[in-house]
Amino acid sequence: MTWGQQNTEVDAHEQMDYAVSQGVNFFDTAELYAIPINPETQGLTEKYIGNWLAANGNRNKLVIATKAAGPGPQHIRKGPNFSKEHLKQAIEESLERLQTDYIDLYQLHWPERKTNMFGDLGYRYGDEPAVTNFQEVLAFLKTYIDQGIIKHIGISNETPWGMMQYLKTAEMYDLPKIVSIQNPYSLVNRTFEVGLSEMSIREKVGLLAYSPLGGGLLSGKYLNNQKPEGARYTDWPNYFARYKHPNTAKAVEAYYQLAQDHGADPAYHQDVLNTAEKVAEYLKAAGADAVEVCETKGYPVVYGEKMIDPSKPTVLVYGHYDVQPPDPLDLWESAPFEPVIKETEIHPEGAIFARGSADDKGQFFMHVKAFEAMNKNGELPCNVKFMIEGEEEVKKMGEMGFLGMMVEPEFGGGGMDTLSYVLAMEEISKVDASCSVIMSVNNSLVCYGMRNFANDEQRKKYLPKLASGEMLGAFALSEPEAGSDATMQRTTAKDMEKGHKGINCLIVEKDMPGFTQGPKEDKLGIRSSDTCSLMFTDVKVPKENRIGEDGFGFKFAMKTLAGGRIGIAAQALGIAAGAYELALKYAQERKAFGKPIAEHQAIAFKLADMHLEIEAARQLVYKAAWLKDQKKDYSLASAMAKLKASEVAMNVTTEAVQVHGGYGFVKEYHVERMMRDAKITQIYEGTSEVQRIVISRAILD
Ligand SMILES: Cc1cc2nc3c(=O)[nH]c(=O)nc-3n(C[C@H](O)[C@H](O)[C@H](O)COP(=O)(O)OP(=O)(O)OC[C@H]3O[C@@H](n4cnc5c(N)ncnc54)[C@H](O)[C@@H]3O)c2cc1C
Repeated sequence: MTWGQQNTEVDAHEQMDYAVSQGVNFFDTAELYAIPINPETQGLTEKYIGNWLAANGNRNKLVIATKAAGPGPQHIRKGPNFSKEHLKQAIEESLERLQTDYIDLYQLHWPERKTNMFGDLGYRYGDEPAVTNFQEVLAFLKTYIDQGIIKHIGISNETPWGMMQYLKTAEMYDLPKIVSIQNPYSLVNRTFEVGLSEMSIREKVGLLAYSPLGGGLLSGKYLNNQKPEGARYTDWPNYFARYKHPNTAKAVEAYYQLAQDHGADPAYHQDVLNTAEKVAEYLKAAGADAVEVCETKGYPVVYGEKMIDPSKPTVLVYGHYDVQPPDPLDLWESAPFEPVIKETEIHPEGAIFARGSADDKGQFFMHVKAFEAMNKNGELPCNVKFMIEGEEEVKKMGEMGFLGMMVEPEFGGGGMDTLSYVLAMEEISKVDASCSVIMSVNNSLVCYGMRNFANDEQRKKYLPKLASGEMLGAFALSEPEAGSDATMQRTTAKDMEKGHKGINCLIVEKDMPGFTQGPKEDKLGIRSSDTCSLMFTDVKVPKENRIGEDGFGFKFAMKTLAGGRIGIAAQALGIAAGAYELALKYAQERKAFGKPIAEHQAIAFKLADMHLEIEAARQLVYKAAWLKDQKKDYSLASAMAKLKASEVAMNVTTEAVQVHGGYGFVKEYHVERMMRDAKITQIYEGTSEVQRIVISRAILD
């Protein structure tokens, strides 16, 4: 990273925050930076990183690399070299600027000797002796390694000869071995491939490729003599002379064309940027002005400073894509403010505009990551349906009848039986457990509880809205100190006439004064379904909102949960079945040792066990649903179904990750999300331990 010349400390910190939020854990710098070389900005990059590390307290979670400058820049130690004195000073100053006690990777920025580096071709024989005493340099760096101040060492801008000297010397004198070489490598600079690639691989000295886009050339942004504002070759046209050869421009043009012919771009980032420009056009068309695409955050962000209608609160434009959406929370997390969406409106081009209060700066915010993901699928933004935090999906579920499946048709429901509901839950959970938990709570806790225990007025008032998805139901039983032991609740309702008796279930609407919702919990799984604390401060609930007789609340909860368990059991079954389907497909496609991994017995047996366990769980879940439909006692059956299915979900998803190998650990392949989602099925609506209590009591009674 080089900050301090083309960008500020604020930019640097924003970029590091963003990088870390995207899973980056490695920052590389140098005492020399910022680039282009300038005595006034020397050391600033390290300083910015140091301030950021100190502010975030996350040093131990990151790999930090830096470098000692080689001969040349006179403003550093009047011309640096790799003598003990120079290296000592370089290391100590870097540690101070970086505000750290140790450096994970310490590199020698370029050779001390005169050789062809930085893109020079043609070696001039016999120019001068090789000045470096490799043994002395390695022995000196070893003293820092022994103290734990340097963890690993590497070289940079080196030639095969230099690399060989470091390796040979380390071997001969039992000194530390270099672990990396940081040289340029891109489609317009493949010099590394000759000589160094083989050494790097055979000697296990990893390449840290710098300038992978040829300093931005390959993005195509300089094509046709374009001079983008603030770009490196615009401001410093003679920088990196190695890329100035007329053939380089021709090569860039050819690469660019090749990529365009295939609907791609040599610099993926450029693709994203193009999309961002399109988004900016939408915004302009929608009446905003001063729209700007900022490139400083790794991913482009579109900002606009004026509102469509200044009399309204800040407008937030939030793009999202419908095909396998990422966890919306991940997108929100990088938003610069927390918007409160109040009203949505569909833009003719497909984007959804949400009106709400954001901050007082009147900013537009558009996270282009969503567009980037769309482009990956070769789709244009306007062809993709946008949504805001999954609201659209839930609305769709309501329209399709999934939110009130067992509610009688007279109340706008589907009038179906439990088994049908279980089948739908299973299918939806195969793909998205966050959607299915919303469906489950609304159907089997809220609608079921109302149908069976509410009075006619309450049913008429709420069931049609709940069944259509116009209202979403929540079931608030647990409290911070009352989970499995649900009788320990502290929330109290006072009957203003008679005082209070026992536990009661009350219908509370979101807009009743005194009701507030806490912030979203940051969860392991089912991240698209919000989980928040609910606060009730002197909320006045009309008496007609109590369900059942005075004191009926606990019975209501237990009876409802017995049925709810079947829904969660079906959710667990679906998660397991979804992960199994992905694993089965992958095992037939992925080859290792010359055949599909499914043909290796260890994997085939895993698949067999997964299939068997899922089928066993399925029988229990369907049986519990059937018993309920037959109006027979299903409390034991539903506890067994939930216990078995949730444990199968956890085991099968873990095995599905294993079948996928390393890819299973990567978000793109979904099974890791399923594994995270599976865990909650062992916890909510009665933990596995509680189910065992229910089962053991039933069999011992
Ligand atoms: C994502 C999410 C969504 C949720 N949604 C809702 C919701 O919509 N409505 C709602 O009311 N609640 C909800 N909950 C709360 C959930 O139902 C409780 O977390 C759950 O019932 C467990 O209670 P607890 O967390 O207090 O754990 P505890 O009851 O404190 O249990 C801790 C551990 O002790 C074990 N344990 C407790 N008692 C016993 C015992 N007698 N014998 C043996 N082991 C025991 C438990 O099994 C568990 O392993 C949700 C929780 C999560 C995480």
